[in-house]
Amino acid sequence: MTLGRDAMTPLTILSVSETIYHNLLTSMVQDIVSRTTSRQQLQDARYPGLAPLHHDQRGALDVYGRPKPQEASVYFRCPNCSRDLSANRFAAHLERCMSRGARRG
Ligand SMILES: [Zn+2]
Repeated sequence: MTLGRDAMTPLTILSVSETIYHNLLTSMVQDIVSRTTSRQQLQDARYPGLAPLHHDQRGALDVYGRPKPQEASVYFRCPNCSRDLSANRFAAHLERCMSRGARRG
């Protein structure tokens, strides 16, 4: 597409090689840039003023800039026995709770 971009450049193996290389490079750059631009435009149109995800250099905060929650302080309600359980005990509870239920039923 840019073959003979400079009329003064003589056609040599070197100049043709460079033109082909330039062609490859331009195609790839245009492809990447157009994908990135249209994706960014779509995101801006859908979510105007969207804040970028938080990046913490120390690795202590999550993508929303919040510290890690203590799992022991998070409670789930067991759908089998309707008891509130600490999130980090849920799997262990289910093992007992479900087998107990099966024995009963
Ligand atoms: Zn249960």
